Amino acid sequence: MELKFMKTRLFLPFILFLLLLTGTPFASAQFETPVIKEWVVKETNDNGEVEEVEYMSLDGVLVHETDPALAPQPPVVQPGAVTGMPPSDAIVLFNGKNTDGWSADDGSPSQWIVKGGALQPVEDSGVIRTVQEFGSCQLHVEWATPATVEGDGQGRGNSGVFLMGQYEIQILDSYDNTTYPDGQAGALYGRSAPLVNACRKPGEWQSYDIIFHRPVFDASGNVVKRATFTILHNGVLIQDHLELSGGTLWKSKHSVVPYEAHGDKGPITLQDHGNPVSFRNIWVRELAD
Ligand code: MG
Repeated sequence: MELKFMKTRLFLPFILFLLLLTGTPFASAQFETPVIKEWVVKETNDNGEVEEVEYMSLDGVLVHETDPALAPQPPVVQPGAVTGMPPSDAIVLFNGKNTDGWSADDGSPSQWIVKGGALQPVEDSGVIRTVQEFGSCQLHVEWATPATVEGDGQGRGNSGVFLMGQYEIQILDSYDNTTYPDGQAGALYGRSAPLVNACRKPGEWQSYDIIFHRPVFDASGNVVKRATFTILHNGVLIQDHLELSGGTLWKSKHSVVPYEAHGDKGPITLQDHGNPVSFRNIWVRELAD
């Protein structure tokens, strides 16, 4: 009887000790915003098959919402003239001459080409990534969508800059081209629309200046410090110390992936989305976490 009492008395502290060790309830409870909800809807696809589609909402707004009453289009701002030459302590990743320091995603030589001082994908070339890996950093990237407009929505000048190979800042021809706001130029894909639309015209050079702080994970793989992004598009603030609520990779048409624990560094990756988007003047400065 006394033994049973002891067991009961020790049980609760033991469980609390275990919870403290794993950190699970505390790690998931510390982020109150945005409120993330996930659910599954049975839908019939184009082939007439019924499939389960995952849905996600952030603060009550569906990921990739297109209704302007629920997800308003960011106001249009005309940017001023911008220069962004590398400062003395920058690591120049692309200087307009060659693809040295870059590879395909599997580490093999990249098929991307250098044409007129600009870096471009070719058909089916896949992404291009830096061989050197980076964590928290300041990144400058210049890009131009094709001058000849083809397609619409997500099909017009789609590319992207990925920090640590996975957190995408969308590149898209968003000049007079409406799509879901969390997928237009300057969006953190599926997570955060830009504050304003500072896009230049198709074919014109544009810039992203990105201040990125990497996420931090505990030993159990829980995110304990979320990634943050401050981004200027053509010199205009479009993400203001945005605390990223999870991953940005496609999960389904209205859902993106959650955080998954990873290392301290990863490549800077440029997306090949089947559109000939050009890049130039890419440089980075490493930052402390
Ligand atoms: Mg993209």
